Amino acid sequence: MTTTETPTVLETIAATRELVRSARAAGKRIALVPTMGALHDGHLALVARGRELADVVIVSIFVNPLQFGPSEDFERYPRTLDADLAALAGSADAVFAPTVAEMYPGGASQTTVHAGPVAERYEGASRPGHFDGMLTVVSKLLNIAQPDVALFGQKDAQQAFLVKQMVADLNLPVRIEAVPIVRELDGLALSSRNRYLSESERVLALTLSAALRAAREASDRGESVAAARAAGLARFDQQPDVRLDYLVIVDPATFLPLEDDATGDGLILVAARVGATRLIDNAPLHF
Ligand code: AMP
Repeated sequence: MTTTETPTVLETIAATRELVRSARAAGKRIALVPTMGALHDGHLALVARGRELADVVIVSIFVNPLQFGPSEDFERYPRTLDADLAALAGSADAVFAPTVAEMYPGGASQTTVHAGPVAERYEGASRPGHFDGMLTVVSKLLNIAQPDVALFGQKDAQQAFLVKQMVADLNLPVRIEAVPIVRELDGLALSSRNRYLSESERVLALTLSAALRAAREASDRGESVAAARAAGLARFDQQPDVRLDYLVIVDPATFLPLEDDATGDGLILVAARVGATRLIDNAPLHF
């Protein structure tokens, strides 16, 4: 079902289930791309990968209140549905864009998914409850769209790890595919939150990708985990206007921190605040 038209907009769970039912009856494979909208080329890379893996691509656009803390940007998170639909013309078949009331009739969900100990670390330490809220909505979306494959960005590496862990732990019948990070030419990872940045903050935001690059260069030179971490941290020492939240090198298989002298694959994770905007980034390393 390739089309250059804007995708069909589905506002209800019932309409989405109906589309899924008829696609399945026609023997089609379904891909789901969960997003919060304000789409950019990073999201479109997920959609393009979905097209390669399935016949029907459904993009969900839902700013999920359950995964925002009380002091976070739920109210001011960008909502740009018309532009999102235009961006998806010719690539997505349908957009599931429910209201909060459609997803949470009667208010918050009584039943939630608990993400487990890895979710207490890194993003979870700064954003308590975030990953429980994220996994709860992802499981709802998987149950609504019943896709063969669901696409997630490596940009949110801990999220992709926890989704895969949930799918394995709960035996959910879906394949989870992580798509590499899409960056601007200067290295800044694309993010819906980049639009909050002023021109000068946009320059400061490059500290995150520069720190990842410095750590990567250290690991490529054969230096240790401790040395790669120090190389990354040095970039933040030079930029006091960027407030580092965490910089950690983890084992991508467990998401636990690597020992200073570990060997094998690593993943460096970083989160920092530039002005009022919180940004995250990550990159693979090898020791
Ligand atoms: P969001 O709308 O921010 O919740 O993101 C929806 C999906 O797009 C998530 O799986 C993100 O990891 C993914 N995503 C966001 N930014 C990027 C990027 N720069 N490159 C690849 N995937 C991304």
